[in-house]
Parts: sequence; structure tokens; C-alpha cells
Amino acid sequence: MNASDRPLDTSPHVSDEIRKTTCYMCACRCGINVHIRKDENGVDKVRYIEGNRDHPINKGVLCAKGSAGIMQHYSPARLRKPLLRTGERGKGEFKEIEWDEAMDLATKWLGDIRAKDPKKLAFFTGRDQSQCLNGFWAQQYGTQNFASHGGFCSVNMAAGGIYTFGGAFWEFGAPDWDKTELFMLFGVAEDHDSNPIKLGLAKLKERGVKVIAVNPVRTGYNAIADEWVGITPGTDGLFVLSIVHQLFKMGKIDIDYLIRYTNAPWLVIDDEDAPNHGLIARLPDDRRLVLDRVTGKVVPFDTKGVKPALKGSAKTANGQNAVPVFELMARKYLDDKYEPEAVAKRTGVPAEQIRRIANELAEAAFEREIIIDQPWVDMKGEKHSQMIGRPVAIHAMRGISAHSNGFQTCRALHMLQIILGSIDCPGGYRFKPPYPKPMKAQPQPHGGSTPNSPLAGPVLGLPRGPKDLLIEKDGSAKRIDKAYSWDAPMAVHGLMHMVIANAYARDPYGIDVLFMYMANMSWNSSMNTYGTMKMLEAKDENGEYIIPKIIYSDAYNSEMVAYADLVLPDTTYLERHDVISLLGRPISEPDAIADAVRWPVVDPATQLDGDGKKRDVRAFQSVMIDLGGRLKLPGFVNEDGSVKFKDYADYITNHERTHMVGPLSGFRGKKGDKVGRGDPNPDQIQRYIDNGGFFMHHIPLKAQYFKHANRHWSDWAIEVGIQDQPIENIFRLYLEPLRKFQLCAEGKLEPTPPESHRQRIKDCFDPLPDWYEPFEGEGIDDKEYPYNALTQRPAAMYHSWGSQNAWLRQIHGSNPMYVPGNICEDVGLVDGDWAWVSSHHGKIKVQVKRMDAVNPNTMWTWNAIGKRSGSWNLSPDAPEAKKGFLLNHLIHELLPPKKDGMRWSNSDPITGQAAWFDLRVKIEKAEAGDEVTEPQFEPLKSGIDKVVDDVEYGKEWTK
Ligand code: SF4
Repeated sequence: MNASDRPLDTSPHVSDEIRKTTCYMCACRCGINVHIRKDENGVDKVRYIEGNRDHPINKGVLCAKGSAGIMQHYSPARLRKPLLRTGERGKGEFKEIEWDEAMDLATKWLGDIRAKDPKKLAFFTGRDQSQCLNGFWAQQYGTQNFASHGGFCSVNMAAGGIYTFGGAFWEFGAPDWDKTELFMLFGVAEDHDSNPIKLGLAKLKERGVKVIAVNPVRTGYNAIADEWVGITPGTDGLFVLSIVHQLFKMGKIDIDYLIRYTNAPWLVIDDEDAPNHGLIARLPDDRRLVLDRVTGKVVPFDTKGVKPALKGSAKTANGQNAVPVFELMARKYLDDKYEPEAVAKRTGVPAEQIRRIANELAEAAFEREIIIDQPWVDMKGEKHSQMIGRPVAIHAMRGISAHSNGFQTCRALHMLQIILGSIDCPGGYRFKPPYPKPMKAQPQPHGGSTPNSPLAGPVLGLPRGPKDLLIEKDGSAKRIDKAYSWDAPMAVHGLMHMVIANAYARDPYGIDVLFMYMANMSWNSSMNTYGTMKMLEAKDENGEYIIPKIIYSDAYNSEMVAYADLVLPDTTYLERHDVISLLGRPISEPDAIADAVRWPVVDPATQLDGDGKKRDVRAFQSVMIDLGGRLKLPGFVNEDGSVKFKDYADYITNHERTHMVGPLSGFRGKKGDKVGRGDPNPDQIQRYIDNGGFFMHHIPLKAQYFKHANRHWSDWAIEVGIQDQPIENIFRLYLEPLRKFQLCAEGKLEPTPPESHRQRIKDCFDPLPDWYEPFEGEGIDDKEYPYNALTQRPAAMYHSWGSQNAWLRQIHGSNPMYVPGNICEDVGLVDGDWAWVSSHHGKIKVQVKRMDAVNPNTMWTWNAIGKRSGSWNLSPDAPEAKKGFLLNHLIHELLPPKKDGMRWSNSDPITGQAAWFDLRVKIEKAEAGDEVTEPQFEPLKSGIDKVVDDVEYGKEWTK
């Protein structure tokens, strides 16, 4: 429709009512003002969404996605009522049922297996923001088979950071935008931490601070960087270690920082044949040992007045040789293999550029030191008159972590930050509370389901070593995704991308119910998409589904709906309560704790669907609370068996994770005047709403930096309930748990992994940050598949959510394959040509667009634009289905067979992170023919009965 054709709004002017809540068009959690006006029937209508200028995250900024939330709310793809499958799985044939029947059915299915074998429930959720509730629910239910989407997203970034220094990027920490003098971005797509990064980059541009962006593709943030490093995918770790090599050679290392805050001086046993070779030397009371360079004695690291040596060697009390961690670092990183010339070809980064960037980092850190005259006291009680900063800030995300070497790469990047002394100092990276939360402050994983019982602790956690593995006596995995087994010993967030394949293979066992929320596993959230559909449909020799029951909850008619047996329709994000909690992933800033709510700014019972029919949907979180009560899960019922919480709002208000600490930190206590710790306040959510949907409480100035070692921070964190006691946070440059797993593989420590795992653990679990070749390349012929292929998300879309949105579809209705100019010339491709792109696993037909601002060996496309024909209530001929495509068809959940015929999971061997970006491909021009992407599938039937071709706000379907 042309602008001139649009009918003018001639209705008499009525002021909008503004309701303040939290955006959920991506995961950034900006504050929004939702303008509401009643229609002629008195029904609330969403008219307009703008940014909330008072909100700490976005300060009024709103992106294209955020303003298009109105079309998400009125999407024709919204589900309307619970659905029960009537046809074969995958056919999209359902009947609508009432909620009573749906809940009875779900309670029976879940209750039966809880009474027999709770681990037969696999409960996995996607990019939802209620992981805190869901994890608690899974623990109370008693299944160890729970995780959220982290394992297929960016767990390496989170795990690498937490293990190394107790933080990470995004929700965990941020650049000091106001003070930094040099900023580096690694592998950041435009949707990650979206508005905060835009605001931060604007600040840097205003101050003329140099921005260096490392990414194979130069779009978005990378396009406005002062310098772009068009790195080859999977080699970021090698590039970083070459910079580290240069810094070691130049002596540009903050030695004082390393001695104060890291394990660089700790002694490591250097006694090759001993069973403790490579472990930290310690006393029986666990105090780690250092060599005092003044006395020459080996003493505990926390001895008063000790001057630890970073070099040399020492003898421990039992006569074993030991060397400081830093000595091992120097030996490793000064190796010629990290010379810029030695890594230039593999990384695609010229040697002189690596050298110059190393120099610039050193110059910014050490020549442009920042001093704040703010006295503070460290955890040892030592007084400091100033806060001294090394103004280099780094931010990184999925691009460097979604590789089979991603954990080590993320650790390498953190090591770079640490040797420059730029963690939580003025001008550097800054922790966002409740972080830092180092390994010692994190739970360990729990397994061992028993009938009708909760687990002894949280399902997910950070293993400290082999003792925390969740394996059976025969070494097989306890979890369906094999997290915390030899496949991925330090899995942390689970391996969601392996759940369906393992359940189908009944390896390590079959499951009875697969329960998923917001996880589009039969399409863009799975590797091997077609294979996954077939696994969901597969039957055994008795004609029974191999995955017997599938419950799925979503607000929209996504591709996954067709594969469910029971569909529980969720509300839109404007119709439900939600909590952005300090117990989960809050919206804190480096100088303040902050959390937020969503609340029903419109009542779902009044909002009609595309046919003008009433919807009967329920917020997933309230459904979980209801199920918890019906199943009599301990955390959800009182001692007399009565239901503890009436819905999610009640849970948010009254649930206490520990005494007087609950999901929301603000307005606690009977009068609402307590912060962090306080009794539940029945008016708490209303107080948040009155405050603009969020709460913020500032950290005292003396506690704002060096939080990992700052006594004022520790005292304040205990006062506001984000810590219970002081926590030792010594940065782990040398990560001992990795060495323990190596000792197991060497046969020196129990348990011993199966022979087939040993070499891989020896090779990849280096306790010092390391780089090794991504796995996919090992199993294939480089000459046959010479190129890398990857995806990234655009600023205007978030996963599959946006490409059904009437406004956002106009920005990205289809996706071409962006092919480097040199490859186009070699293969004879021009813009608009069609081509076949193949991997070891599959073949897709795509339309080509030439691009020169990209690594010359890497083609790429936007993620999750392609839709399956007939899904999301789009027309079967929608451009998303006919011109859009998924790269997922080329990626398998298993790697190509190795020489011994074994096929490993396509994941990081340490954390199990899905290695999406290791993909290797070839490209050939397609013969003239249909101008449609391949593969195409039989159009899905809809779980809703009307397909809407033309969506326009204000037309009858919104009424
Ligand atoms: S970045 Fe955009 S979509 Fe994401 S929360 Fe903020 S306004 Fe919403």
C-alpha cells in the first residue's frame, strides 16, 4: 500500500494512556512506553511504542524491532487456544481443546514419569527470560534434563569468563564507555546488547576514541569501526595469542595487577611422572603456595607481606619441583608459533596489523593511565589512595564462541584483558552486579533423579573437576544431552542442540516427554533441520513415536508447533508478567544494581486474533506455577499440600530464594523501603510499575571499581543480598579443573575416560588459554570445501521472531548469500545468480549477492529469515519461504567421521557449545531453473485456520 492510499485517522483526538514496561523484541530488555487507547468497544489497543527515556538500559533509544512490537502483539501467527494433535506428527493437524483438558493431560503425562523416573522428562527452553523459574521448577520436579538455550548460543563466552574472572560480557559486564581510550569488539552481531552498544559507540565517537572491530563480516558495528580486522572464522584465539606474544615480548604486562589479583604467582607442580603434575601446589588446608622472592621460601599466597615471584622454580615441602603460573605462560606464549608472521596466513590478518594493534593496546593501557582520586580498601585490608585504570575495553560475543575451540578462545581474550590490567578498573571492562561471581560463588551441577523427589540442588552449575561429572558407573552420561559427561565435562548450560538426536538414538536412554518452550527445534534452532524433523516424526517397530510425547509452548505458530502433541499457547510479551531478575540475567549497570518487570499492559482476554475471535491463552510462566502446584512439587506447594502461588506475579512477589531475597530486589519489606534483602512486599510489582517498570540502586563510589578485590564492594554486596559472605575472586589465568580432566585422560586421576575420549581431552583441555584448529576442518578435504560459511543476526531481526512481523518483514523478507568478490570471480557469479552451496552434510540453493567487505574465504547470510512454507501463518508462497533459506541444512549435529569411524558431537569439547561457525562449504553456479531456494518442504498446515497475506495495522483483524 502506498502512503497516499492510507486512510487518515480522523477519529477525535483522545490522549493515549502510557504504560511502562520492558521490551522483548530481542533479549536486551530496553524500557518502553506503550501507548494504549481504547477502541469503540472499550478494548485496549496498542497504538505506539517508544523508548523510555528514564530507563537505565536504553535511555529512550528504541530500535526498529522495539517499535515493531506492536506488530508482534497483533501478529496473525498468534496461537489462540490449546491444541491437541489429531493427525500424524508434523502434519499440523490439531483440534482446539479447553485449558482444563490441556492441564489435566500435561499433569498426567508429567506426573506419571515423575512417579517412575523423572529424568524421562527432558525440559528445555529457548530464548526465554524465565530461566530462574524454569531451573527451579526442573529441580523441584527432579529431572536433571533441563537447560535453556545457552549451549547453542554463547555458553563459551559465559563459561570462559566466569571460570577465568567471575564475569563475562553483556549482562555480566560492560566497557567503561565514559573513560576508555581504546575499544575492541570481537564477533558481535548487531542484535547483541543492541541499544546499549549503540549508545556506547556514540559516546566513543563523540570523544574520538578508536574502535577496532574483529569480525569476518563488515556490517553494523563493524562498519562504523575505525579499523576492521576481517579475520578468518575460528582463528580469533590464534590472533589474540599472537597479540599476547607481542605483549610478552615487549614486556607490556601489568605485573603488579597480576600479582595482586590473579593466580599468575601460584606454584604449579612440575613433576612429569607424578599424579599431581600440573596441579596447583597447596597446603592440606587448600591454601595455594607461592615463592617469596625476598625470602626464597615457599609460603601461602595470602601470607602478610609476601612478595611473590613470577619467575623461577621452587621445591615444595615434599620435594617436588614447582614453577609459577606466569613462568609457564611466558614459556608458552613466547613460542615462535605465535609470531605475527607465523599466524598471518591462517588468521587472514597481516603480521604488521597484529603488531600495530598490540602496540596500540599497550600504548593505551600503559601510556594513558587513568587515575581517580578515590580511596578504597582491598580484601586483604590494604588501603589504596587512588583507583588506577588501564583504559582498554573489549567486548565480545557469539562470533568467537560458537566454534569447537570457542572456550579456549574466550579464555585467551580474557587473559589479554587481564595481562593489560584492564578488568574492573577505570577505562577498562567493568563488572555489572551481581557480578563478579567467580567459580566459588557458583553452584555445582546436580543429577541423580529419583521418583517423586526434587534434586538436591540446582540442575545447572559450574563443575570444579572430574568429581562433578554426571556419569554412571560405566562412564555413560546421566543427562540426555550428555552435558557434564566426557562429551562436554564443563557444559555449564547444557547441549540443547543434542537433545532430540540423543533422544531419538536412545543414547544414553530414551525419554518419555519432551517439553519445550520458545525453541524452534524443527527449524532454525536445530542443526540438521531435515534430520531433526524426521527424528521428531520417527516411530519404533511397534508404530509408537520414539519420542513418545511432546509438549510445546509458544505464543506463535512456529514450525515447531506442528511437531507437538500438546500445544500450550503463550501470551505476547505485552500480556504477561515477567521478571528481569538479579537471580538470573538482570539489567544492572556497572555502578548500580537494576532489575525490571514486564506486566500485562493489555489483558490477553480482551485481545482478539486475526479472525476477530477471542483468544484463550495463558502466560507460560503461570502455567508452570500451575503445573508445579498440580504435581505437588515441593517449591510450589505449602506443607499442607495447598498451592503456594496463584500465578507468576504471586511467585515474583512472594518466592524467596534465600531468606528475604527474592526475584526482585527493589521495594522489599512490608513498607517497600528495603533494597535487596527484605520481606516480600505485596505491592512490589505495582511499585515497579509506578517507577517505570524498573528499579535501580547505586553502588557507593568507593565500591565501584576493582569489585573482585574491593572490601567496600563485598560489604555492600552482602548488605543488598547479592552475596552471603565475602568471596575470594582470584583470576584464573591457569584453570586447574582443565588440568584435572587431562590427568584423568592420562590415567593419573579417577575416573578414567573411555579410550576414545582421551586424546581429545589431552589436546584441548590445556589449563592455559590455547588455540587449536576447529574440528569440522579435520574430517573433510579442505580442497573440496575450501570456504567458511556463517550467519549473523541483523539489527532488525531477532532469531525467527522478527521475520513474521509485518513491519520487519519489509526490511528483511528474504536473505541472499553474501559471497566475497574474489569467490564470485573464481566461480563466475554475479548479483542475483543462483548457486548451490554444499557441505559434508547437505546442499542448499541460494541467491547470490556479491560483497567485498568480508573475509575473502567466508560467505555469510542473515540468520533465521527463511521460513518453512505454510508456517507462522504466512502465505505458503511468502518470500521468506521461497527466497529465504537456512544455513542450518548444511550443519550436522555430528562432525564428519574421523579415521576410526567415530563421529563426535559438533560442539566445543569442553563446554559442549554448538559449533555453528565451524562450517566448511563449496559453491557452484546453479543451472537456470526455478528461482526458488532449496530445499523446499511440503507446506505446513496451520494450527490456526486462517492465513493472512496482507497485514496492516488498523484493519479489521486487529479489532
Ligand atoms: S534493542 Fe530493540 S528490540 Fe531489543 S529490547 Fe531494545 S528496543 Fe527492544
